[in-house]
Amino acid sequence: MVREKIAFVNQKGGVGKTTTAVSLAAALGRQGDSVLLIDLDPQANATSAAGIGEVVGPSIYEALMMEVEVGECVVRVEDEQFDVLPATRELSGAEVELASAMAREQRLKTVCEPLSAKYDWIFIDSPPSLGILSVNALTAATSVVIPVQCEYLSMEGLARLMETLALVRVNLNPVLRTLGLVLTMLDQRTRLAREVAADVRTHFPDQTFNTVIPRSVSIAEAPSYGQSIFRYSPESRAAIAYRRLATELTERVGVSA
Ligand code: ADP
Ligand code: MG
Repeated sequence: MVREKIAFVNQKGGVGKTTTAVSLAAALGRQGDSVLLIDLDPQANATSAAGIGEVVGPSIYEALMMEVEVGECVVRVEDEQFDVLPATRELSGAEVELASAMAREQRLKTVCEPLSAKYDWIFIDSPPSLGILSVNALTAATSVVIPVQCEYLSMEGLARLMETLALVRVNLNPVLRTLGLVLTMLDQRTRLAREVAADVRTHFPDQTFNTVIPRSVSIAEAPSYGQSIFRYSPESRAAIAYRRLATELTERVGVSA
């Protein structure tokens, strides 16, 4: 049985959604959990970061359009020990095609149902918008993790995201809970970064994960080699931080389940 289906969301781009989803998938996969990473962003960054250079079989797009059975789209990433439901650029068409579809918000949840029994964790990487794809991620998920970049804080942006989560709970997915906010890209040397981190903790005291992800050159480089941080630079500070975040995530899921 799936323990948790987590959507990584924030309508702001470049905050660390993909990096966090891929790194946690790799951390938990390496410790022996079965993990599926669903790439729900037409930019397909999670797919390439997982080491899938070219998607040869069907992708999440074909699964959402119900052209193929979802299991046929799953790709095993042996080096990282997790599975991926890859995306391609074609996925951008789904925004338009789903717009007029029946039960459009539930499409991902419906098509992924056959996979639920196979995994301990299903992670959904979502695009930088609050459009129909992100709403599908929030409807299919049991919880959300919100990466927040320490270099720049938009409290209005976070407030809008919280409103969207509340709307999704009322209308589509009452069980959706917020597991927490993850502070990413912290550069301890800059005052702004430390202030942003402190502000987030003040506004979301119980919801902010203790683990903070430091700014790291290694983790910015790893995706271009199609490797997780644990292959690319296993002893780096970012690898240590993401390992610790995986432990904290497991504890939170257990505690609040
Ligand atoms: P999002 O999915 O929210 O758009 P990404 O995870 O793709 O964000 O991160 C945006 C960019 O920042 C990417 O180039 C990524 O490699 C880089 N990045 C992510 N986390 C870190 C970090 N801790 N330190 C340095 N660079 C990072
Ligand atoms: Mg991304």
